[in-house]
Amino acid sequence: MPNPVFAGLPTSIFQHMTILAQAHDALNLGQGFPDQDGPMALREVAARALVDGPNQYPPSKGLGVLRQAVAGHARQFYGLSYDPEDEVLVTSGGTEAIAGSLMALAGQGDEVVMIEPTYDSYRPMAEAVGAVVKTVKLAPPGWRLTEEVLRAAIGPGTRAVLINSPHNPAGRVFSREEMETLAKVVLETDAVVICDEVYEHLVFDGLPHIPLATLPGMRERCVRIGSAGKIFSLTGWKVGWVTGPRELVGLVFKAHQFLTFTTPPALQTGVAHGLRHEMDFPRALTARLQGNRDILAAGLTRLGFAVQPCEGTYFLTADISNLTNEKDFAFCERLIREAGVALIPLSAFFKSGTPDTFVRFAFCKQQSLIEQSLERLEKYFTVP
Ligand code: PMP
Repeated sequence: MPNPVFAGLPTSIFQHMTILAQAHDALNLGQGFPDQDGPMALREVAARALVDGPNQYPPSKGLGVLRQAVAGHARQFYGLSYDPEDEVLVTSGGTEAIAGSLMALAGQGDEVVMIEPTYDSYRPMAEAVGAVVKTVKLAPPGWRLTEEVLRAAIGPGTRAVLINSPHNPAGRVFSREEMETLAKVVLETDAVVICDEVYEHLVFDGLPHIPLATLPGMRERCVRIGSAGKIFSLTGWKVGWVTGPRELVGLVFKAHQFLTFTTPPALQTGVAHGLRHEMDFPRALTARLQGNRDILAAGLTRLGFAVQPCEGTYFLTADISNLTNEKDFAFCERLIREAGVALIPLSAFFKSGTPDTFVRFAFCKQQSLIEQSLERLEKYFTVP
């Protein structure tokens, strides 16, 4: 019998909306990838490494030069100290890091807590390892983490908590206060925390990104996941990493050796260069994204969308109930067909399918595409 977790999965919402968008020549603010590649110097270093070689298996835990750069990055930005020898593991993207962490840190029947709305790989991967998923459901308006919802899900039976901040799709960057509440609740249990921080540098308005691992007592409990794809707008490269205490990273390493074993060495060399010399790129990208967010938020507000706070990531959510009686899914399909703009219905990120009156916009696109999309929406909603 095939694994029911995967056999039972429907076509992803991203695929569904993208196929429909292509059929109707719609502008795509659904899929979350940038439409401009990251730093040329970084790509040139990788290209040179690819030509010069070697192109054989690098060390399974990652090239030393990249592990050192990842450790240096954690120290520089957060004051977190990790030994590049055995507290840093290079993975094939954040995706592999998530899968490996779940496989290694949770098992059959273990409770794994995750935040809803939930990034799409979390639940299937947790269920595939046999874990029982419990959720901390964020509620509009504001999508805030509260002690009440955390306590309802996290308890003595919790084996692992999977937290994502900055959060896709809610666009939240959980505050120090929210993180402290989470730490307090977790410290009353034996749970470990898998911290998906792939959007760590894409934080707006000068807000801080607070890794949970920086709070008292949390470093030893947390594995942190990073992604060069998000830092350097190189999402096709799939270079990511896990940092954490050696006991936990050692376990994730054991899963990694049979998942991918290694990650392309030339790309690792490029990313190591990037973390050392190209950190102006994410700073400039963040400023550009913040500008896009502001244009999008202002335009949508004018049209009657109830825009939710967006503090980071590529994503902004908005309530559509002032505009329509339809559910989000039908609304998104109609917008593709009739307005020529593709979005993602937020209900796809909730197991229960509710709330179902919110949509997600991806604004990691050139400003002209955001403006064109707004023009189309404006025409659609204002012309009788
Ligand atoms: N976590 C989140 C929250 C993401 O949005 C993504 C990418 N969409 C990933 C992990 C995966 O990162 P990568 O592309 O490095 O595999």
